[in-house]
Amino acid sequence: MSKLDDPKQWQQSTKLVRGGTLRSNFGETSEAIFLNSGFVYDNAETAMSRFNGDNPGYVYSRYLNPTLDMLEKRLALLDGAERACVVASGMAAVFASIMCCIKPGDHLIANKVLFGSCFYIVTQILPRFNVEVTLVDGGNLDEWKKAFKDNTKFVFIESPSNPILGLVDIEAVGKLCKQHDAMFIVDNIFASPILQHPFELGADVVVYSTTKHIDGQGRCLGGAVLGSAEYIDEVLLPFHRHSGPALSPFNAWVALKGLETLDIRMQRHCENADAIAHALEANSNVVRVIYPGLPSHPQYNLAQKQMKHGGNMIAFDLGSQDAAFNFMNALQIIDISNNLGDSKSLITHPATTTHSNIEPEEQQALGITKGMVRLSVGLEAKEDLIADIETALG
Ligand SMILES: *Cc1c(COP(=O)(O)O)cnc(C)c1O
Repeated sequence: MSKLDDPKQWQQSTKLVRGGTLRSNFGETSEAIFLNSGFVYDNAETAMSRFNGDNPGYVYSRYLNPTLDMLEKRLALLDGAERACVVASGMAAVFASIMCCIKPGDHLIANKVLFGSCFYIVTQILPRFNVEVTLVDGGNLDEWKKAFKDNTKFVFIESPSNPILGLVDIEAVGKLCKQHDAMFIVDNIFASPILQHPFELGADVVVYSTTKHIDGQGRCLGGAVLGSAEYIDEVLLPFHRHSGPALSPFNAWVALKGLETLDIRMQRHCENADAIAHALEANSNVVRVIYPGLPSHPQYNLAQKQMKHGGNMIAFDLGSQDAAFNFMNALQIIDISNNLGDSKSLITHPATTTHSNIEPEEQQALGITKGMVRLSVGLEAKEDLIADIETALG
């Protein structure tokens, strides 16, 4: 067998373009969108065999259909996971990955600074079901070590975290999870499958929002959970099939097409972000720049170790909310939006929008200052973006 017969042996760019493709008997070049909810069977025996599992074909689009199947296979290939399950949004992925197996009395540890809705799940929803939750400073390994208890069953992290771009040492926390037999779930959304491979660093489960860099063009919501065959087939799928956070086949198709250009888009995203981070650092109106690709980032060495590049997200502090608002309102190209990972550069003031559900004192303690803005660097010419930023800062 040639190496090329096995898609697992392909380079990442080949996997992005061709992984998981199921070509129909019409021989279409691009992946087809199967916008069907159900399936028909040639005879009653076939229907029976689909339902009892003897025949592996499709049954219903709440479970799977060929377009969803292609996206699952392609995403699994990219991260070297045994299986993937696609869902309607990134939050559906985060929620299903935990809810499919957590029980009252279990203990979960997460890093303190999380995407607003992830924070809501761990601090508001899980405690209602008698799940114990401990939040730690994700960058502090001593806190991680102390947080484990006899009933610790889950660890959930984001790295880099939203919005302060703090990192968790994935390999070190992965080792602690192994020692304590806890399931390690990594939200890899900020890094994307191009910049970070959590399974190689010890993750058990990886979640994505395909809404972000994977679509990358602001069109469709989507999400995915990746993991072992045992976890996905036996634990997640029964939960997913019966609770119904199914992804629309149209959205799955948009994400599939997005993956084809993800590698080259990420290269441009990162190149632009790098140039902008340096320009911000050299600007006297900027109090502080936080970017994992800058040597001034407190965890720069860790970023170098576990990420291929600093990514497209930058946080910077302008000293006060007034200064931040004046800057945002003066931008001519960059749009004000809470979304990220888009081809269009987008700016957010986390303290008053995405993270406004956190009390002001708590925001301060987490490093989400009033003067902080979060920039999702897009694909425009970096010269134009830097000119826009420098003019607005002046
Ligand atoms: C956007 C995002 C999510 C949620 O994804 P949706 O597709 O918007 O539901 C979860 N975690 C992080 C880190 C995110 O940036």
